[in-house]
Amino acid sequence: MNLNAFTSIKELKHAIDKKQITPQEVISFYLDRLNALDGKIGSTISIFDKQSVVKEMQEGGVLQGIPGVIKNNICIKERPTTCASKMLENYRATNDATVIERLKKAGAPLIATANLDEFAMGSSTETSYFKKTKNPWDVSRVPGGSSGGSAAAVAAGFAPWALGSDTGGSVRQPAAYCGIVGLKPTYGLVSRYGLVAYASSLDQIGVMTRSVYDNAMVLSEIAGHDERDSTTLPIEKKDYTQGLDGTIPKGLKIGIVDNTLSAQGMDPEVVERIQAALKEFEKMGATIHHITLPMIDYSAAAYFILSRAEAASNLARFDGVRYGFRDKEATTLTSMYDDTRHDGFGSEVKKRIMVGNYVLSAGHSGEFYENAKQVKRAIRNEFIDAFKQVDMLIMPSQAAPAFKMGAYDLDPLKMDLQDYFTCPMNLAGVPSMSVPCGMSSDNMPIGMQLVGPHQSEELLYRVGHAYEQKTLWHTMHPEI
Ligand code: GLN
Repeated sequence: MNLNAFTSIKELKHAIDKKQITPQEVISFYLDRLNALDGKIGSTISIFDKQSVVKEMQEGGVLQGIPGVIKNNICIKERPTTCASKMLENYRATNDATVIERLKKAGAPLIATANLDEFAMGSSTETSYFKKTKNPWDVSRVPGGSSGGSAAAVAAGFAPWALGSDTGGSVRQPAAYCGIVGLKPTYGLVSRYGLVAYASSLDQIGVMTRSVYDNAMVLSEIAGHDERDSTTLPIEKKDYTQGLDGTIPKGLKIGIVDNTLSAQGMDPEVVERIQAALKEFEKMGATIHHITLPMIDYSAAAYFILSRAEAASNLARFDGVRYGFRDKEATTLTSMYDDTRHDGFGSEVKKRIMVGNYVLSAGHSGEFYENAKQVKRAIRNEFIDAFKQVDMLIMPSQAAPAFKMGAYDLDPLKMDLQDYFTCPMNLAGVPSMSVPCGMSSDNMPIGMQLVGPHQSEELLYRVGHAYEQKTLWHTMHPEI
């Protein structure tokens, strides 16, 4: 078989099953490519050696011999799990995350850990303690974040799939910026056991691939109930590729979220591409309905408060006692806590911990945290109401293609607004998938989100796959 960097999981699986290529050859191919080219992109934190990857590979599953890259906030036993932070620079996980355990059982070789914004806090992968990842389409631009390393690795053909995590958009925004498919599943569909928590009421692990079909293949291996994560839904393992026949359901009603297309700062090229996609769906037999979701305007503010509040609690455990970095000069316990956290965390993380503690503090929690929780409920209800009128929704993944590195260094509010179109679905807990839907005039990918009711992953995959059969966006790749 003629293996190329952008061969799909489906084709790889076929070739491996037919013995046209061995898992070892596939692993070597991707590891060689990563080692040769990742210097230009910086998508990974560590690249594993071939011997250990082959040794770890289990026999006989659906993903036998099909390599993946794992965002470095998901624990892989005995490998460094750094969260791109000095705090965990030398921390090695003692256990596999449930998703990792399941992927290993499926025979998937894990070849590298992916760079991210420190503790998954950011939208550009610029806050990593180790390095800034570059967008493979244009190395002067960001790949998005926080799963920017995962997205860049898949887009650059360093691996056919990667895992990311999505708290406010961290799978979908980098997927859109790098021209790949990124799914944030329904809250509770995928176990977070072994994911280093950022904001637990919003976090989901998501799948990043170059096609919708491939995405469904990986999700099929990781989704489903886990007794080690009490927030997982009582769902059995299933094959999400089943319904992918290139058609959309008869009579499909798609809602276009009008107030996203008319939002301030929308790039006209993005609007144009989404309108073209709607035409494509009409040709396939869907009807398009106009929907307004006013609560979207409040989502980013509510997300800001909730995510910081939960982060402040979740990150309290990093105090130098149990995990990772400890300031060894300190002479008292309190100064050890202080100095460890002062030196171990980067400035974005510290800023969020401070905001989080402030919004939770006595006298302020009603004004901030309680209000934000009400917005969360309201947005959830708004989605539930919308899905009484239509089967699914379409909206942009981002207002514009990937921005230049450093562009928002002096404008943190602009960075926070990156979550505008993505965080509503984290607040509502509904699934959303970013799918490439065009290229800008300066040759940067554009993405759209397909959003459905709770547990509608099968529908989103079916519709996304049908769209891919009619368009060529997912076949375009950057030159590294
Ligand atoms: N950009 C968002 C944030 O910085 C999203 C992060 C995420 O989804 N992990 O919080």
